[in-house]
Amino acid sequence: MSRKILVTSALPYANGSIHLGHMLEHIQTDIWVRFMKMRYPAQEGHQIYSVCADDTHGAPIMLRAEKEGITPEQLIDRVWQEHFDDFAAFHVNYDNYGSTNSNETKECAQDIYRKLKEAGLIEVRSIEQFYDPVKNMFLPDRFIKGECPKCHAKDQYGDNCEVCGAAYAPTDLIEPFSAVSGAKPELRNSDHYFFKLSDPRCQAFLRQWTKSDTLQPEASNKMQEWLGAEGESKLTDWDISRDAPYFGFEIPGTDGKKFFYVWLDAPVGYMGSFKQLCEKQTPPQPSLTPPLPPCQGGENQGRERTAPPLIRGGWEGFAPLNFDEYWKPDSNTELYHFIGKDILYFHALFWPAMLQHAGYRTPTKLFAHGFLTVNGEKMSKSRGTFITAKSYVDHIKNTEYLRYYYAAKLNGTMEDIDLSLEDFVAKVNSDLVGKYINIASRTAGFVSKKFGGVIATHNQISESRGAHLIGKFIGSETLIAEAYENRDFGKAIREIMRLADSANEYVNDQAPWVLAKQGGQEEKLREVCSVSLNLFRMLTLYLKPILPKLAEQVEAFLNIAPLAWSDIDQILDGKINDYAHLMTRLDPKLIEAMVAANQESLTPSPSPGGRGVTTQSEQRHAAHQQNEVKKEMTETGKASESFISIDDFMKVDLRVARIVNAEHVEGAEKLLKLTLDIGEAQPRTVFAGIKSAYDPEQLKGRMTVMVANLAPRKMKFGMSEGMVLAASGNEPGLFILSPDDGAQPGMRIK
Ligand SMILES: [Zn+2]
Repeated sequence: MSRKILVTSALPYANGSIHLGHMLEHIQTDIWVRFMKMRYPAQEGHQIYSVCADDTHGAPIMLRAEKEGITPEQLIDRVWQEHFDDFAAFHVNYDNYGSTNSNETKECAQDIYRKLKEAGLIEVRSIEQFYDPVKNMFLPDRFIKGECPKCHAKDQYGDNCEVCGAAYAPTDLIEPFSAVSGAKPELRNSDHYFFKLSDPRCQAFLRQWTKSDTLQPEASNKMQEWLGAEGESKLTDWDISRDAPYFGFEIPGTDGKKFFYVWLDAPVGYMGSFKQLCEKQTPPQPSLTPPLPPCQGGENQGRERTAPPLIRGGWEGFAPLNFDEYWKPDSNTELYHFIGKDILYFHALFWPAMLQHAGYRTPTKLFAHGFLTVNGEKMSKSRGTFITAKSYVDHIKNTEYLRYYYAAKLNGTMEDIDLSLEDFVAKVNSDLVGKYINIASRTAGFVSKKFGGVIATHNQISESRGAHLIGKFIGSETLIAEAYENRDFGKAIREIMRLADSANEYVNDQAPWVLAKQGGQEEKLREVCSVSLNLFRMLTLYLKPILPKLAEQVEAFLNIAPLAWSDIDQILDGKINDYAHLMTRLDPKLIEAMVAANQESLTPSPSPGGRGVTTQSEQRHAAHQQNEVKKEMTETGKASESFISIDDFMKVDLRVARIVNAEHVEGAEKLLKLTLDIGEAQPRTVFAGIKSAYDPEQLKGRMTVMVANLAPRKMKFGMSEGMVLAASGNEPGLFILSPDDGAQPGMRIK
C-alpha cells in the first residue's frame, strides 16, 4: 500500500536567530524525511512531504520592527531569509518553508475559529490586564517588568522570575512598569476570547486520544497526569485573543479590535504552509504555457524558491496534492509533528482538541525530543555555547559533521541530548574520517592507476570473502531501516559503524598496498579494491539520509545514479572516476574559535524572549503551565527521600563573593576572619574554619562562593553573617571554591 505522509517541525519565531538547539529538531526531522523518501519513493506511488514556516506574529515582532524603524513585514521578510539560509546550509530541505503571515494560514485560522464557535467552544470573558497609557496598548506579560514578589529581584518579567524561577501573574509584581515606555501600567478591562479546553467534550476526547498510541509512552503518562483522574477537570480554558494594536490576524466579526493570539495562529501555520505547497504543486493546464517547475532551494534569492521539484524531470507523471485529502477527519494519510518536549502540553492537548472540534483530522503521532545541552550544561552566552547556526557555518563550514553527531545521539525518546564539543570532534574524526572515508581513500587509487578506473564485475568477486561481506552488508538493511523509521538514528549508526569496522578489517587483512607491490597479483588487487568500494557504496547508501551532500559527492566519484534505498543489493559495474578528497578531519581549533566568537559579556541581555509556541509563553496561565512542564521535564528521577526539589535548593542563596580582607583571629585555633563583598552596600563579616589550609595574605582579592541567607550567628569573636563554601575529603586538606573568570561579586549561583 502506498503511504501518504506529512511531516512538520515546530515553527521558529521570527524574532531571533536559529541556534544549534533549533537545529537539533530540524536535523532530526530532515534525516527522518530523507530516509522515508528513500525508503518509500514517489516512483512507487508514495507521497512524503515536510513543511515548516516562520512563526511571525505577535507584539514582540511589532515592537521590534517599530524600534528598527521598519514595518513588521519587512522585519519578518528579513528574518525569513536568514532562517531559510541557515536551514539550507545544514541541508535541511523542507518541501515548503513558509510564513504564518500568509493568506493560507489566515484562511485556516479563521475557519477553525468559526467552526469552534459554532460548536459552542469559544467564550468571551472580560479580563483585567495591564495597559500602557503612554503607548496606548495592552502589554504582553513579557513587556511588563518589576520586582519579583517572591525573591524581590529587580527588573523581572511579568510572567516569571529569572532569578528564582517563580511563575506569577504580572499583577503580582511589585512596582510594575512598562518595558516599552517605562510608564506605570494601569489595570483595564478588556474582552478576551477563550477556547474552552475544559469543556467535557474536549476532556473526553483527549482522554481517549492521548492513550491511542499517538504519543511516546513517557509523554502519554505525562498527559494522564495533566488530564487528572477520570471525572477530575484539570484543564483550563486558553486565551486565544489579543487587543489591537497587534501584528497578526483579525478575529472575524470584531471590527479590527481583536486578533488571534499565538495558539490559534502559529500551529495553524503547519496547515497554511502545506496549503501553499498544494497550490504550488497544482499541475499546469495543458492549454497554457507550462510554468517552470518549482526550483530547488538554496542559491536564488526571494521567497518563491521554497519547493524543490517533486519528480525528477518536471511535471511529467505528476500527482497533484490535495489539501483536504491530508486534513479531512477520516484521512488515510499520516501526519507527524516533530516537537521539543517543552511544547508537548500544547501539541498533545490544545492542538488535537482544536482540530477535532473544528472538523479536521488529528495528528497520527507526536515525536517529542529532549532539550539540547552543550558540554553538559544549558546553552550559555557567557560560556560561548549559545551557538547560532550562522556562527557554526562561519567557523566549521561542514554542517554534515553536526548532522552526524546529532544522529548518533538521537534515539527517538524524550531524553536530553548533549553536544559535548570534545566528543563531537573525536566522534566525527574516528567514525566518519577514520572508518568510513578511510575505506575509499585506501583503495580507490589502485583502481584508477592500475586498471584505468574499471572495477571488477560481480562474477569476478563472487567466490571470495568479499562476496560474503557484501551479503552481510545487504543483510543489515532491515535492521537499519527499522532503526531509522523508529527515529533511533543512534542504533542505525551503531550498526553502520559495525559494518564499517568489518570493511576496514577486510582491507587491513587483504592489504592492497602489499598486493600492488607483488608481481602477478593484479586480479586479486582489483578484486579486493572493488569489494572495498562496493562496501563503501553500501555504507554511503545507509548514511545518505544523514549525509546527503557527501552522498552526492560519492555518487559522482563512483559514477552512479543517485542512490535509492532499494539499490542496496546492486553491485558496482564499469568505470569509476578518480578519487578526490571527500572529507577532512575536524580541527578542534575551529571549535575553540567558534566558542570564543560566541562568548558574550556577562551583562544580561535586555531583549525580551520569544513567545508561546516556540519558547516562553507571554500568556499568564500558559506560562504557568509551561513552567510546570519545564520543571517536571527537567527533573531527573522521581521524587524520593534522597532527592530535594529545585524549590528546596533555591532556598539557599549562594553568591559570588570577593574576599576584601582576610586576617587571623586572636585566640582562635581554626578560624580566619573574612570580609566579603557580595555587591551589597556593606561588606559581610564571616568567620571561616579554614586557618589550617590558607594564609590570609593569599586569600585577599580572591573570589569565592558564600551562602548569603544563612541566619547570622553570634560567635565568641563576633557576628558571622554567612558561610564560605569549601571542599574536603577523608585525606587532610581543605579547598575553598572559586567561580570561573568573569564572575562578579553578588552574582547568584543556581
Ligand atoms: Zn524571584
